[in-house]
Amino acid sequence: MMYKAKPERYADMKYISCGKSGLKLPAVSLGLWHTYGEATPYATARELTLRSFDAGITHFDIANNYGPPPGSAETTFGKILKDDLMPYRDELIIASKAGYRMWDGPYGDMGSRKYIIASADQSLKRCGLEYFDIFYHHRPDSQTPIEETIDALKHLVDRGKALYAGISNYNAEQTKAALEAAKAVGLKILIHQVNYSMFNRGAEADLFRVLDEYGVGAIAYSPLAQGQLSDKYFNGIPVNSRAGGVSHFLNPDAVTPEKVEKAKKLNVIAGRRGQTLSQMALAWVMRNNCVASVLAGASNFGQMDENAGFIQNLEFDAGELAEIEAILL
Ligand code: NDP
Repeated sequence: MMYKAKPERYADMKYISCGKSGLKLPAVSLGLWHTYGEATPYATARELTLRSFDAGITHFDIANNYGPPPGSAETTFGKILKDDLMPYRDELIIASKAGYRMWDGPYGDMGSRKYIIASADQSLKRCGLEYFDIFYHHRPDSQTPIEETIDALKHLVDRGKALYAGISNYNAEQTKAALEAAKAVGLKILIHQVNYSMFNRGAEADLFRVLDEYGVGAIAYSPLAQGQLSDKYFNGIPVNSRAGGVSHFLNPDAVTPEKVEKAKKLNVIAGRRGQTLSQMALAWVMRNNCVASVLAGASNFGQMDENAGFIQNLEFDAGELAEIEAILL
């Protein structure tokens, strides 16, 4: 059936400026790392995408290597765009990335100009797009001078293949070097995509300070620690879960009894706040000023619908924060 977006799709979402820029991101964005590969029925990916857009989620995040197999998430999303979403192209923020291994040989990986530009062109083709709204370098590369990587991102922006540039997984020092290199050639780095959640707080040490200093926005990926910050593992590991074998990126051994215990204690606080644990975990991530959006994943729209409800209660009082801190220690 032909898709027509809900007229009231913007009513319940919050849009937040990304760093010191004019670009606003939805408080929750949808990541296409899982659920868009060849193993997932097209109808599931389509429903997740379209209902998310109907809920005001305007930002969709992909990478060249998402699938499996690599490239298939972009192909799936390209089909959804072609079948349904292209009339809404100017209402969408679509991001892709290059930085992990994508094809054989020395030019299909890391951070060279050769790889980044070729990969971005391939990604545009798979998605059937003329440009990405954001294009990221996916991870730092110690063997390529940062000036070369930045030059490749600038090339994409100058040619209109990307409206904004971003970096991901760079630590504070690498970020500073990248931002200085970008400043030197007049490229604005809009955004940093960082692994950040109640269970992964590395960014708090230095990275957020650097981003604040340079006016760069952060988007927090895996904000639910791949589902561990929900009630899904309270009674063991369900077979149809990421740790249960849906993906090899979350080993069942990673879901330790200590983490489950912490999640159960956090769940009690969430209940008092009138939220589910996943909603509270997302609100907690957003308490950092530089975080413009949480980049969540979902295996169906029900999860996304629950997660998006987190914006109903974003405030924490000092007592709640202290209690959470004591659990996370
Ligand atoms: P999350 O931490 O949000 O984990 C999402 C998974 O948790 C879902 O697929 C689902 O897994 C489970 N889940 C989500 N909501 C609920 C819920 N309400 N109740 C129970 N379970 C739930 O994020 P991801 O790890 O998926 O990462 C999100 C995005 O971040 C990616 O799609 C990608 O775009 C980006 N990313 C970027 C990286 C980078 O290097 N820049 C690296 C990794 C991710 P299930 O149902 O299968 O158990």
